[in-house]
Amino acid sequence: MKISEHVHALKMPFKIEGPSGQSIPRFVYVYLILGERICLIDSGVAGKEKAIFDYLREMGRRPEEISLLILTHSHPDHIGAARAVQMASGCEIAAHAAERAWIEDIELQFRKRPVPGFHSLVEGSVGVSRVLQDGDVLDPGCGLRIEVLHTPGHSSGSISLWLPEEGLLFSADAVPLPGELPIFDDATASIASIERLKAVRGIRALLAAWDEPRREMHARRVMDEGIGYLQCIREAALGVASADPCSGADPMNLCRLVLRELGLPETMANPLVARSIQACPDRGDQE
Ligand SMILES: [Zn+2]
Repeated sequence: MKISEHVHALKMPFKIEGPSGQSIPRFVYVYLILGERICLIDSGVAGKEKAIFDYLREMGRRPEEISLLILTHSHPDHIGAARAVQMASGCEIAAHAAERAWIEDIELQFRKRPVPGFHSLVEGSVGVSRVLQDGDVLDPGCGLRIEVLHTPGHSSGSISLWLPEEGLLFSADAVPLPGELPIFDDATASIASIERLKAVRGIRALLAAWDEPRREMHARRVMDEGIGYLQCIREAALGVASADPCSGADPMNLCRLVLRELGLPETMANPLVARSIQACPDRGDQE
């Protein structure tokens, strides 16, 4: 899907493993910036390099022209095919310093954050050749600038990317969608990061990893809703903790109680969501 003169979005369907082994359909967006060289934003899960390469060929381009793959963070659906893309193109791999260890050693990531089906989602470890920090500016090779915004919360080294010439803001997983799995490392940092994204002037489209492209006014609404959702999660976690101070003893039980409070199905409870609920600071104050 063409977003602007240089930017294309590729929707990548995949499946994750549910709590009882069932398969749950999901998708993630990968973005391509096509200039004299080609820059990719995230890679999708293992095996998705084929879809990326096929799309490039349809556009009359070659995979070898990919010179830069920016990984917005280290989660499996963003880095799964990075190794294959790097091997086919020899491209630079760029990511924030705080995500580097989990990209360069996927077994370390799996030990610390055991996502079900992890090894079917991530092909292998890959070296980060360019370490990014807030304020860095990258050159995708078509007279455009990519500005790096450090937007922690979903994970500590999550970055968003701003393309001022085209008014495109790539937010990866920084803005949660109400009703979707609430996954973050730090709710307060997440809210501050979305406030920061809201302050960016001249947004023509918000391009998230888990959402359709949102144009102008819709972009602002999605960010407001994301903040509201995080606040609701924090309040629900606080409410549950106040009603039963022992509820935190079993993270999965706490997770189910908070989901119920939010009006979400308890079947959404999983260790990643439980970890997010425990990362609500108001809850921590109760313990
Ligand atoms: Zn993520």
